[in-house]
Amino acid sequence: MSSTRETYGLACPKCGSDRLIVVRALTWLMLCGDATPQADHCQDEWDDDSQCACGKCGYNDQVARYTARERGVI
Ligand SMILES: [Zn+2]
Repeated sequence: MSSTRETYGLACPKCGSDRLIVVRALTWLMLCGDATPQADHCQDEWDDDSQCACGKCGYNDQVARYTARERGVI
């Protein structure tokens, strides 16, 4: 299993964990007639200003703060 550090370059700036990072993203839904809305996973959008939380310690801040390369965590 890859880490969030390997896949996204993200790690928690507080505890250094790179196992689970939760990002608040804008998701586009596909609506068609009377069908149940379906998420279009290819259209999920988030950026450096999106809210983000560490799955280990709960630290919450913007994605830019989790950028491992900038924080010298890598
Ligand atoms: Zn953490």
